[in-house]
Amino acid sequence: MTSLEQLKSMDRASVLHPFTQAKDYASGAADCFVVESGSGVRIKGADGTELIDAFGGLYCVNVGYGRLEIADAIAEQARKLAYYHSYAGHTTEALARLSARLIEMAPAGMSKVFYGLSGSDANETNAKLVWYYNNLRGQPRKKKIISRERGYHGCSVISGSMTGLSFYHQHMDLPLPIVRHAGVPHHYWGAQAGETEQQFSKRRADELEALILQEGPETVGAFIAEPVLGTGGLIPPPEGYWKQIQAVLNRYDVLLIADEVVCGFGRIGTPFGSDRYGMRPDLITAAKGLTSAYVPMSASIIGERIWNVVRDGAEQVGAFSHGYTYSGHPLGAAAANVCLDILERENLADNAERVGSHLREQFVRELASNEFVGEIRGVGMLAAIEFVADRATKRRFDPALKVGARLSAAARKRGLITRAMPHGDILGFAPPLVLTRADADQIVAITCEAVKEVT
Ligand code: PLP
Repeated sequence: MTSLEQLKSMDRASVLHPFTQAKDYASGAADCFVVESGSGVRIKGADGTELIDAFGGLYCVNVGYGRLEIADAIAEQARKLAYYHSYAGHTTEALARLSARLIEMAPAGMSKVFYGLSGSDANETNAKLVWYYNNLRGQPRKKKIISRERGYHGCSVISGSMTGLSFYHQHMDLPLPIVRHAGVPHHYWGAQAGETEQQFSKRRADELEALILQEGPETVGAFIAEPVLGTGGLIPPPEGYWKQIQAVLNRYDVLLIADEVVCGFGRIGTPFGSDRYGMRPDLITAAKGLTSAYVPMSASIIGERIWNVVRDGAEQVGAFSHGYTYSGHPLGAAAANVCLDILERENLADNAERVGSHLREQFVRELASNEFVGEIRGVGMLAAIEFVADRATKRRFDPALKVGARLSAAARKRGLITRAMPHGDILGFAPPLVLTRADADQIVAITCEAVKEVT
C-alpha cells in the first residue's frame, strides 16, 4: 500500500495545482493536505485531522458532504448508462426531468437550459449567447460586456476577462478588450461622506449609464454580475442597487447575465439570488450548488428574449453550433435531481437564512467591538469579516503583513477552514447550508481565537 508520505511526494512531483505557489509546493516548502472523506460540514484528512469546512469546498457543497443518497443515484445512473452525449436531440430521463425542474424553479421568463461543466464554461456560453443573439437580430456591433471590478466569473478566457480582480489577469494577457469593468457596489469603502445606501446605489447606476453612453449603447451587449459579489469580498448589494441598475440596462437594451454560481440553490435564502433582489435576468449562470459539486455540472439558463431569437434564427443559421462532449452528462443530472430533492425536503434555503443570520449575529456580538474589525457583513449562508489597521480612518493593513492569510491559517490550525478572500484582509465564510447553530457557534469561537492570536 502507498504510504501517506509516498502519496504526497507523488503529488508534489506530478500535479500543477490551481492557485498554488508552484515552486514551493513542488519543493515541499508549502503544505500538502490529502483529503480523505467528508460528512455534513466536516472533512477528514488522510492523517486523521478533522476540519469544519466553513467554506463548503469552494462555496459548493450546499447539501453537505457524504450524502449516500446522491452517491447511490450516481451509481445507479452509471450502472444503467454512465454516459451518452446530448447532441442532436439525445437525452436521458435524468436530464429531461432536471431541465423541467430548473425552468420551474428559476425566476419568471426563463425558457431553456444549456449544460456545461463549470461556472467558467457556463459564463463562456452566456457571453457567446449574447453575441449570437445580437448577430441574429442584426446588431453585430452590440458585443461588449460590462462586468464589475472585483466581480468573479471564472478564469477561462472570456470568463477570466469578465472577472474584475487583477490577480487573475496578470501574465495571462487578460482581460480581452471586449470587456469593461464598472465600480464595486460596496458602501463601506465606496460611499462618500454622508451618502446613504440608496444614494450610493444611484451613483453606481449613474456611473454605469455614463459608461454605456461613453462606449456607445449600440456596442454594449450585456452586463454581468453576481447578485451578491462573491470572491471579490462577499459584498451584498446596497439598498436599491439592483432596481437602479436594472432600469439603466432596460433603457439601453443591455442584457443582464446574473452569475448565480454562488448565490443559486438556496445559499442566500431564496432559490436564486435574483429572486431576493427582484432582478430580471436574461441569462443565468449556475453551477456549484446545482449538484453540490458531487459531479461537475453547470447550467446556462436562457430567458425568453434570447430564446425567441435563437429559435427563429435557426432557419437562417441552422443548428446551434455550440456544445461540449459532456453537456448534459447523465451522472451530473442524476446528482442534481437528488440535490434539488434534498434542498426542498430539508428546507435548506430557510436554514441558510436562519443559521446564516445567527452566524453573523454571533460574529457581531463577539467581534464588532474589536479595534481591527472594519465591517461584518453577509446574507443567507454567506458571511465576511473585513479587517482594517485603523477603524476610524479605515486605513488598510500593509498587504505585506498578509493579515487575512494569517487569520485563515490560525483558524485552520484550530480545525476550521475559512477563506482569506483575494482582495483586502477579509475572512470569508460560506458553509454548507446544513450548518446547525451549534456548528455556527463553534465557527465563531475558533474565529475569535484566531483573531486573538493574529491581532
Ligand atoms: N462565477 C462565480 C460567481 C464564481 O464564484 C465562480 C467560482 O468560484 C465561477 C463563476 C467559476 O466557476 P468554476 O470555478 O466552476 O469555473
